Formats: sequence, structure tokens, C-alpha cells
Amino acid sequence: MTPARLGVILLGPPGAGKGSEAELIVERYGIPHISTGDMLRQQIRSGTELGRLAARFIEKGLLVPDKVVVDMVSDRLGWSDCENGFLLDGFPRSVGQAEALHASGHTVTDVILLDVGDELIVRRITSRRSCPACGRVYNVVTLPSRDGVHCDSCQDVELIVRADDGEATIRNRLREYQAMTAPLVEWYGARGLLKRVNGEGTVDEVFVRILEVISVGGSTEE
Ligand code: AMP
Repeated sequence: MTPARLGVILLGPPGAGKGSEAELIVERYGIPHISTGDMLRQQIRSGTELGRLAARFIEKGLLVPDKVVVDMVSDRLGWSDCENGFLLDGFPRSVGQAEALHASGHTVTDVILLDVGDELIVRRITSRRSCPACGRVYNVVTLPSRDGVHCDSCQDVELIVRADDGEATIRNRLREYQAMTAPLVEWYGARGLLKRVNGEGTVDEVFVRILEVISVGGSTEE
């Protein structure tokens, strides 16, 4: 059976596990993983003008202006690998962004909200480590690298705490989520696209729950 074209949005606060679940979803369905956070960090690493602008907001835990991310995503969705669908991780993050995506005509089939309590979010983010070279994300408790210090993919590169994972910045990010992104739950709910999934548990447990609700259906068997 050829699965229907998927247009998936992963919604949820920072630390909800969007990135980890995104990796499993794109592997299962063969669709590209479009993470605006990763794209912005790549721009920062490359020292582009867009990267310099984005860094000013990201460092403070604030959202980058809608126009910047909307243009970036709109360009990315035009690539040929999106012909069979896409997974958006971290976009949209405001009603303005959702309206822009809606107006662009790209069909969204599933908006998966990862529901996670505040306490677990803070615990997850403070135990998060990232590779400064490739951006791969680890967790000292649930997903350590092989030796616990270096990136498995980049070998000699030591893992770091992402600059915007510091405590004060996290608080701002959670505040931004409540103010700007949480209204999307209602926005997508009203359009019949919202699928709420319990995001607590292991990456694999949450993935099974996602497979149960995603449009094309799915099975946990290989
Ligand atoms: P993430 O890796 O998705 O947690 O994103 C890290 C940071 O990048 C966020 O805290 C924002 O500052 C910025 N960012 C990522 N995606 C967006 C978006 N869709 N709109 C505005 N800012 C974003």
C-alpha cells in the first residue's frame, strides 16, 4: 500500500521530545525532517546575515520574527524531496506562522501535540547535550553518547549544553511557548487536525502512540 502524502507538524513545548520523535517518523515514512531550530543553528554556524539576526533572538529564548522563519520554511518546502510529504519540527510556532503555512497551500494532514508536564520538561532540557559540530542531540540520562562525552558521529568533538538550554533562557522559551505557540492547539483543533499524544515515557513508547494516531496508520512491526 502506498501511504497517502503526509504533512506532519510536531507541536509541543521545548523538551517535549519533538526532535527525537521526528527522527523516527521521517525514517518510517521517508519524508524530510524540517526543523527550523536546526536550520537557524546551521545559519548561525555558517555566519550568515540571517544567522546573526536569528542568534540575537535565540540567545534570549525569544522567537525569531515570523517573516524570517516563514520565508525560510517556504523555500524549503519547495524542494523536490517534499513532493511526497514533509515533517515540520518547531514550525509553526505562532498563529501568524500557521496562517502563512495555510495560505501557502501545503497540505497539513496531522498536527501531533506532544503533551509533557512542566517538571519533566525542565528535567529533560537540563540533561540535554548537543554536538556543536553536527547538532546531534543526546541526553545524559535517557540517550547518552557511547562514551558520554563525545559525539558518536563526529568522534573527537565534545558534547556541550546548548547555549539556549541554560536555566534563564529556558524560562523565556517556556513563556514564549505559552504566549505564542500554545494558541495553535486551539487553532488546529478547530480545523480538526490536532492529535494529542502523551509525550511522557521513552522515545519508543511515545513513537508507538504516534503511529496509532497518524493519518496513514502504521504498525510497530518492521
Ligand atoms: P528549537 O530547536 O526548535 O527549540 O528552536 C530553538 C530556537 O530557535 C527557539 O527558541 C527560537 O528562538 C528559534 N526558532 C525555532 N523555530 C522557530 C520558529 N518557527 N519561529 C520562531 N523562532 C523559532
